[in-house]
Amino acid sequence: MTELYPMLSVEEALARVLAAFEPLPPERVPVLETLGQVLAEDTYANMDIPPLTNTAMDGYAVRAADTADASPEQPVRLRIVYDLAAGYTTDVAVTPETAIRIMTGAPIPPGADAVVRFEDTKRDGEWINVLKGVPVGKNVRQAGEDVKKGALILPRGTEIRPQEVGMLAALGHKEAWVHRRPRVAILATGDEVIEVDAPWQPGKIRNANSFSNAAQVVRYGGVPISLGIARDDVKELTAKIRAGLEQGANLFLTSGGVSVGDFDVVKTVLAAEGEMGFWRVRMKPGKPLAFGHIGPSASSGCRAPLLGLPGNPVSAMVSFELFARPAILKMLGKTRLDKPTVEATLLDEITRKDNRRHYLRVMLEEREGKYLARLTGDQGSGILLSMVQAQGLAVIPEDVDHLPAGARVQVMMLDWPERG
Ligand code: AMP
Ligand code: MG
Repeated sequence: MTELYPMLSVEEALARVLAAFEPLPPERVPVLETLGQVLAEDTYANMDIPPLTNTAMDGYAVRAADTADASPEQPVRLRIVYDLAAGYTTDVAVTPETAIRIMTGAPIPPGADAVVRFEDTKRDGEWINVLKGVPVGKNVRQAGEDVKKGALILPRGTEIRPQEVGMLAALGHKEAWVHRRPRVAILATGDEVIEVDAPWQPGKIRNANSFSNAAQVVRYGGVPISLGIARDDVKELTAKIRAGLEQGANLFLTSGGVSVGDFDVVKTVLAAEGEMGFWRVRMKPGKPLAFGHIGPSASSGCRAPLLGLPGNPVSAMVSFELFARPAILKMLGKTRLDKPTVEATLLDEITRKDNRRHYLRVMLEEREGKYLARLTGDQGSGILLSMVQAQGLAVIPEDVDHLPAGARVQVMMLDWPERG
């Protein structure tokens, strides 16, 4: 039966998965909620920032020419004619041999063309002694020097980070148009799988996958919808999948039931409820993978792409990283879909012979600017602790049977490594 399933490379499988997704339609969202989303419209500046020419320093607004000859030995004396705080304007002008006391951010008053810092003056009642001359424009921030009115500041396609949130606020936007966050329905399968808070019984195992997969969905910007656990039973699985479709998922994830086993009813149900392909992907962990659509038809509206992840906890997570994560990013409107990768020295020797691409869980350490990678112990696909201890996945190419300790490998980063 296995031979009926095509064996695909990781790249072929990913290309087929990604072909089924497009960026989701835009929605208008409060700016603080857009973090990690992608702008769906060009954002122009409707005014200059800063709006007015203002002072970069606490000091005195002056006419630069008045201060030209100032020195500690021969200070220039100017009369203080006004005191201007940030947030206010004045019509009082700086005329020859006068100055206006001015606080950072306050607009430059008429007549002034530079600011002398407090540190370069000495106060004497209503007068100041300027100890150091300033050229025209010194300590002055020009209107529009950050953002020019009419300029395209954040083009569509921009990924929103904290600095973009700040820029949107500076431009006066309380909300922004961004590609919608994908809703991802998650269903665990297996007679042996029980809820996290259920009393343990012999033969049972707690549902780790729905939680690790839901956390991955959140981390990469989607909204998880938990559909619980379906027993290996055609009726129950069918009912749960139909219930999930009602919730408008943009992606459906199942875990378990896609390998060749006696109780793998998932395949039967998926075939009946939609159009599914079953693949073997030339990788480890995570060889079996189902992908297709469930739901009656595209026109019914109740139809969603479904990724059937393997049940082993490491396989479910690694397959998610490789296939579900890029699909979520694409729906969010992102174009950079690959994971950050570093080159590292692998400290363990590796021997294997199965022509699959291995994703080995490694601890990473940075030493003198170079990364060292060490296997996180047992690499079995049921060993979730190997993920807990890992900061990266070392990628061992299909055609490599042996790597001596000290070999260079590419490591897909899960997190940022410790510094040694
Ligand atoms: P399967 O792919 O259904 O044959 O499952 C492979 C292995 O993964 C079995 O040992 C299952 O008990 C385990 N497994 C399946 N689903 C889960 C889950 N949601 N949480 C933890 N382990 C699971
Ligand atoms: Mg199972």
